[in-house]
Amino acid sequence: MTELQWLFAILAGLYACECLGWIRRGSVAFSSMTGRRWRVQHPTSVIGNHRGGLVLAMPLPPLGGLVVANQLPFSLGPDGVLFFVAMNMNPGWRPAQSGRFLAWEEIVKLRLDGKKLLLGREKIHAATTTTLASHLLQLLSMLAKLGSEQRGPAIKQMLREALDTKRIATLAVNLRARMKHIRLLANILFVHVFVVAPVLITLVGIQVTWLGLVIVMFALTFSIATLFHRAHREFYPKATDDRFTHTLTTGLAVATSLRAHDILSRPMLETFHPIAVAKVLLEEKRFRAFARNLLLDLRHPMLPSCPNAHPPAAFTENYFRRATLEITEAWLEENGVVCHDLCRAPVPLDRTCHAYCPRCESQFMSAESCCSDCGGIELMIFQPQR
Ligand SMILES: [Zn+2]
Repeated sequence: MTELQWLFAILAGLYACECLGWIRRGSVAFSSMTGRRWRVQHPTSVIGNHRGGLVLAMPLPPLGGLVVANQLPFSLGPDGVLFFVAMNMNPGWRPAQSGRFLAWEEIVKLRLDGKKLLLGREKIHAATTTTLASHLLQLLSMLAKLGSEQRGPAIKQMLREALDTKRIATLAVNLRARMKHIRLLANILFVHVFVVAPVLITLVGIQVTWLGLVIVMFALTFSIATLFHRAHREFYPKATDDRFTHTLTTGLAVATSLRAHDILSRPMLETFHPIAVAKVLLEEKRFRAFARNLLLDLRHPMLPSCPNAHPPAAFTENYFRRATLEITEAWLEENGVVCHDLCRAPVPLDRTCHAYCPRCESQFMSAESCCSDCGGIELMIFQPQR
């Protein structure tokens, strides 16, 4: 390979890295090719671990879109906060969690250091973005200040707000409008870098073309950076450090500039529950499949449901999971989904299957065993078909 071919290969490699994103377990990415039809992406276990995994944004024009929604990384109750949630909406491992319990009286001097939540000098949680970390800090600080009898209603209100589909739909529309020109310029930049530049250099020669190609490339990256800065200030007014860093890299690094729309969109819906984002973005059939898995997991969580034997910790886990289940089921019914029908038992794959796991729906020949993939959940026996 010539030096020029190496240069394009390195640029393509850098761009491929920009298309990959790391998300935590307990998070779900929604990706789209055109911004209209969306699909679910869970953190992959092929290139991932018990903490998270990779997701892939659409690498080719029209460059698509990517948003990420998260479940809360802790259980909340009237007595305190447990850094563990039993729910696991992703296939495979449950997210790695400390299981530490803090009474609300201990939540003093809580502060932020970038993406980290610190209690004094000790790190108690690391979020994936600074905006999400800021949201979690506000949430914990607000609950810590309330009286114990006020916390239950406040927690339930917070759970309902995370399911606000009207707000999600409004944000999605605003995002699409704001990203329109950024994505158009990114597509032009993609064609310029990976099609026009190699063709012109091959046909005409680098000595004649390099200056014009570089000027056009930086004109495009600076335009993208300018639009990105404006949109970021509108959507994330307090994230000044993030805005400075991202604007700088978007203006100077071509590979980052090509994915500027992802940097903008990815945290947009991060404080909403994935099931509500799924309701807004997915087609009805895909939404119901997603909701079914999530509801089965909520009703039959992977075991152990609480790793901390301390009674207030176990109470908080149970309180939060039951509150989440109650509010999610009510929300589904409001949205025309009959939970009983949604969670209907599976049909046996063949005559040898006598039992199934109520969480992951794996089927078994004997009801004597349990589902080891779900931590030892007791199996349910297939009822005779009428
Ligand atoms: Zn199972």
